[in-house]
Order: sequence, then structure tokens, then C-alpha cells
Amino acid sequence: MPLPTVVQVVVDKPLSQGFDYLWDLEKLGLPPEIGHIVEVPFGRSSLVGMVIKVSTHSDFEIDKLKTVTQVAPLVPIDPAALRLMNFASQYYIHALGETIIPTIPQMWKKALDWEKIPKKLVAAEEKKKKTISELNSEGLIGEDDLNEEQKSALAKLRNYSSKGKEFKAILLQGQTGSGKTAVFLNWLSEVLKSSTSQVLLLVPEINLTPQLERRVRAYFPEKKMVVLHSGITEKERGIAWYEAVTGKAQIVLGTRLAALAPLPNLSAIVVDEEHDASYKQQDGIRYSARDLAIWRAHDVKIPILLSSATPSLETWLAAKAGRYEYIRLDQRAQGAHLPKVHLINTRDLRNQYSPGDSGKPKEKSPITKTLAYAISQNFRDKKQSLILINRRGYAPVLSCGACTWLSKCQQCSSYMVMHRAGALGKRPVLSCHHCGLVKAIPSHCPNCGNADLKTLGQGTQKIEDAIEGMWPDQRVLRVDTDSSRSSKGAEELFQEIHEGKVDIVVGTQMIAKGHDYQNIGLVGVLDADGRLFSQDFRAAERLFAQLVQVAGRAGRSGKDGQAGGDIYIETQYPESAVFQYLLRHDVDGFLSHTAKEREEAGLPPFSYQALIHAESKSLDKAIQFLSTLKGHLKSNGLIKTGLRVYDPVPKAVMRVAGTERAQLVIESDSRKQLQEVLEAIDTELRENSQGRISKETRVRWLIERDPINI
Ligand code: ADP
Ligand code: ZN
Ligand code: ZN
Repeated sequence: MPLPTVVQVVVDKPLSQGFDYLWDLEKLGLPPEIGHIVEVPFGRSSLVGMVIKVSTHSDFEIDKLKTVTQVAPLVPIDPAALRLMNFASQYYIHALGETIIPTIPQMWKKALDWEKIPKKLVAAEEKKKKTISELNSEGLIGEDDLNEEQKSALAKLRNYSSKGKEFKAILLQGQTGSGKTAVFLNWLSEVLKSSTSQVLLLVPEINLTPQLERRVRAYFPEKKMVVLHSGITEKERGIAWYEAVTGKAQIVLGTRLAALAPLPNLSAIVVDEEHDASYKQQDGIRYSARDLAIWRAHDVKIPILLSSATPSLETWLAAKAGRYEYIRLDQRAQGAHLPKVHLINTRDLRNQYSPGDSGKPKEKSPITKTLAYAISQNFRDKKQSLILINRRGYAPVLSCGACTWLSKCQQCSSYMVMHRAGALGKRPVLSCHHCGLVKAIPSHCPNCGNADLKTLGQGTQKIEDAIEGMWPDQRVLRVDTDSSRSSKGAEELFQEIHEGKVDIVVGTQMIAKGHDYQNIGLVGVLDADGRLFSQDFRAAERLFAQLVQVAGRAGRSGKDGQAGGDIYIETQYPESAVFQYLLRHDVDGFLSHTAKEREEAGLPPFSYQALIHAESKSLDKAIQFLSTLKGHLKSNGLIKTGLRVYDPVPKAVMRVAGTERAQLVIESDSRKQLQEVLEAIDTELRENSQGRISKETRVRWLIERDPINI
């Protein structure tokens, strides 16, 4: 009798092993290969999985094995991509199947429709041919147009890519508008001269992609490019992914999920705004797309460029220490100076309106007199103003003036935010930004019946109202996730700014990044202090990066010698390090100050962290679960020198949608030691769980490596 063909298949389940199936060559029509996407019977139904091993024997009885039902009409995923998945699975303590399968677009996971795929691909190809519009040359800066500094950066980059088959991580650090994008696009165009090379360009967020997408297309009119992010339709994603996987697409532009796309001919990677928190996946397998991209570049021996005006401390230290190459751009490409930073001390009465001031608004002003005067002047100079406030909604909480009632969410340990009429619904509502609960505004205090309910604090909507009141003849636009969802898409809102249809923009961090506005003369920041003091040790680093970014929106087009606009920051603590380094545009000073603080405190990147998350209906149970785990680690001698296991604590937002959340921080001086203890924890917890829910107490748990929110 001939030997049977046995394949091992992984599926999207938190199970550490794969399952053996028989492969019927005659029925399936092709021999099995590692990386094939297949449909297999599973329990009483069927699942889509991936072949990870092919052999002729099984540890189980061959007669009892079930047979693979179908193979997807796709080439096997390339071995390098599987190595990446294997690494991610190990490093992030996540089963291989639940690491791989979620990265496959839905289109390739619906086995019922596999038959129809080839037709769909042909149709998409036809449609594309018809819709190829004229390419513009928006933002195209050719090699010859680069300034000296850019040229020398490009020459260095070329040197790394021409060596062939060598890993190199490079930090390209340059202030906003210094022409980093122009440099790396010219570099990629060189890499792409080979007709098979693929390049991966990672960007932080979807709202940044359209403008960059046009710019990239302008550089490579001849090349096939695909865009991968969560904002496209499942079908578009399925096709784009297919083109990436088969090597047809040479340029893959995408958000963090693109970091895991199989790319058989990958030749260079660029991570734009490498410090950005959105590279971190926050559910499922909690990976860092940047870190995985670096591992990937190392594995396939190619150069990877990390670009930023405010590099992450991790990357900056690596460049300083010579582990990464370090290239800097120190001028602004279009010659304008960096914006002038003004710190407005809100405690100083001279900055506030006093009775009799000219232009004093009727209502109490939510912004200082100093900032208001600057906005008026900026308008007279025919420039746009940008007001940043990191809180959407009208007011963060509604309160009763007669008793102590506050608009607390009944399901979460947070307050419900008031949204005015027209923002989320026809009427004003209270909305919880954690669980999504929306409620009508009570007409009377639910506690004492008092009809005089007041708002506390301010969000984008309230500022928008106030600003409209103060400058009735200026056109005000609000940009936040509410306005981009309820009216036009974000891109349309940005377009209005570009076209000069608005004078004052009020928005959240959505407006702070990437966009290359040409006529912003003033940036005002209203709520910086809220994030200065936070239990999260990375808060200051993030605030600094955001302020540098938003400052970079000002005065982009000011030509040589002209001032590059102004940024005004309202704060009660102008002496804080974040603001003082910003005042001097001293990114390196801030980073080295932060590095010193972290080193003294033994915090990352001078140590490595992991979180064990626990969720339950009862906080006690969640905490108890983590305490038991800690006890187990102690009694088994797993807490060795260099490893610190803290006490379990409730999370900052402890209760969300009725679920209580707690966490345990584990810290080590060594990556390897942390890995070992996490593997031990995973084994221990799994033994007593169904999936990731403990059998005894029904506590849901998850291990997170390198968390960025503590
Ligand atoms: P960064 O990525 O550092 O923010 P960009 O590459 O986006 O910088 O450049 C900022 C602006 O300057 C863009 O409008 C870009 O078109 C322009 N620019 C870049 N390089 C040059 C150059 N050499 N000459 C003129 N304009 C340039
Ligand atoms: Zn009351
Ligand atoms: Zn809630």
C-alpha cells in the first residue's frame, strides 16, 4: 500500500498544536505544499486553515484522520512570511493559527466562494484598466530637485541598498517638512528599478494615506501599487493582498496590518512616523508592526528605513549607539523657519481677559486673551488657524449644581461625554467613549430633580461654538472622528482646509499629523496639561511628539527668511521639560532627558515589560486570578534575579461595558528571561483554561508583550 500523505493544518483557535489531515491527491488535483490555504472539516462544521507541515505519517491513527476538502486557488504563502508568523507567534505568545489566519482577508477565507475567485480577479483587472486616470505629478520632487542635505541622505541610502542581501536598519531623523518623504521615495524608486522587487511602505493611520498615496503614485507611474488598510472593502483588500502575495504588486502601501502581508520579493521597507502609537495592534495578537518589520528586514536581509521627526526612544537610542545607521536632515526643505513656540501661562492674569478689554467676548472665553489676539492677527494676515484640543464631544461631563450627581456611565468607570445636537444624533446626547452607550440628556437631575444641569470642562464642539461666537465672520470647521463620520469623510474635511475654504480649524489629534497644509499660520494647543501628568510613563514622550507634529503644520510654505508660523500652548506648567525642550525645538535634548529618567527608573527601553490582562464580571475575581498567578510564579521559583512581578492592579479605566479589568506588570532586564517566564505563564494558564477563559473562575486572560499603555 502506498504511504498516505498527511498534512498538518493550523486554524484560527488559541490551540498550540496543528491538526493532521489526509491529502487526497486525486480529489484535490495538486500535491500539498507548506503555505497552502485549505478548507478542513472541524468538529461538526468546517474551517479554513493553513498547511504548515507535509509528511507521510501521523501520531494519530491514519484511519481516523479526516481529509482536506478544498485548496484555495492561490500559490502557497512564501516561506519567509511563514517564518515571520512563526516568530510573531512565539514572541507575542499567541498560537500560530490565530496569528496567521486573521491576516488572511475574508475573501480568501470563504471556501464556498473560492470557485468564483479567478473570475473576480479578471474582472477587477479589467475595471482597473478602464479607470486608470491621468497621473498628476503632485508632490513629485525628482532627484535633481533635492537639496544638498537630501542628496547626501539619498546617496547613503543607496549605498545600503546596492550592497545586496544585507540587513541594515536606518533612522532618518529630520524635523517636519525637512523633506524626508521626498528622500525615501527617491530611494524606493531606485530599489524598484529591478522589475521584480517589492517594497513595503508603512504609514500610521488611514487618514494619512490618500495624500501620501497620490504622492507615491506620482513617483512610480509605471509600477503596480496596492494599498492595504482597514478602511477599504473586503473585496478590495482581498485583491490587493492577492497582488502582494503573488508578487504582482511592487509597491505595498499600508497601515500596521500590511506589515504581515506575505511579499515574496521584498527588497526594502520604509516605516514612516516610526514612533507612532498606531503601529501597535491593540487587540488579538498585540504586535508592534514596526518591530515586526525590523525583524522581517533582518530575516530576509534587506534595508529598513525608520523615518520620524521625533523618533521613539528605542529607535533613537539604537541609532545613537550605532546599532542602526543614523541619517539626519536638519533644514526645512522649502526654506521656512520652524514655527516660533509661545508658552501661555494660564495662571498669569495678564493672559486672561479683564473687564473693559477690547474685544472681550460676552460669554466666558474658553481660550486666553493672548491666544485670541493672536488668532485675530493671523486672520488679518490671511492665514488659517488650527486649534488642537484632544477631547471630542461638547463637554467631558455633565453635572448637577445642587447635588453631587455626575454623568457617570452605568457600565463603565468613566463619565459620559455630552455631545450637542447634530453631532451624534438630532438631539444632544450623553455618550460613553469607552463602551459606546448613548443616552438622551436628562432634563432634570436624576438624583435630586434640579433642572439646572451644567457642563464641566470642554471638548471640540464647545470650543467650536465658542470660537464661532467670538469670530462670527470667520469660517470654522471642526475635525474629529464624530464630524468625519457624521458628515463628510475625513479626506473631504482636509480638502476644505487645503482649498482655503475655512479660516479656523478646531480638531483632535486627527489634524495634527502628516497633512501638508500650505497656509496654516497659527497653531493653538488647549489641553496639553491633561496629558502631562498621567500614570503612563510614556505620556510625556507622546505629548512631545504630538506637539512637534502639530507645530509642523504651521508655516510650511513660508519661504526663505520668512517666519514659519507660530504655535501657542496654553499651560499652567510652562516650566515642564516637555515645553522647555519644545521651546528650543530640541528633539535630541528631550530624548536624552527622557532616556536619563527611564534609565534611572529602570523603565523601557532599559527593561522589557509584559502585561497579563484579566477581565471578569467581578473585580475581586480578576485581581484574585492575577494574585494566584503571581503566587504560582513565586512558589515555582520562576521569579529569578532581574525579573520583577508587580502586584495586580485595576486598570486606569477599570470597568468597561460591565466588565472589570485588572492587570499584572512583569518586567525584566532581559528579553530572553521575560520570554521564558511568559511561556511558563502561558502553559500554566492554558492548562486551566478553555481557550483563554479560566475554567474555574471564568476570568478571561491575555498576555501582552511590549505594551505601550500601562
Ligand atoms: P517630511 O516628510 O520631512 O515632512 P516632505 O518630503 O513631505 O517632508 O517635504 C515637505 C514639503 O517640502 C513638501 O511639500 C515637499 O513637496 C517639499 N519638498 C521636499 N523636498 C523639497 C525640495 N528639495 N525642494 C522643494 N520642496 C521640497
Ligand atoms: Zn442633583
Ligand atoms: Zn461606558
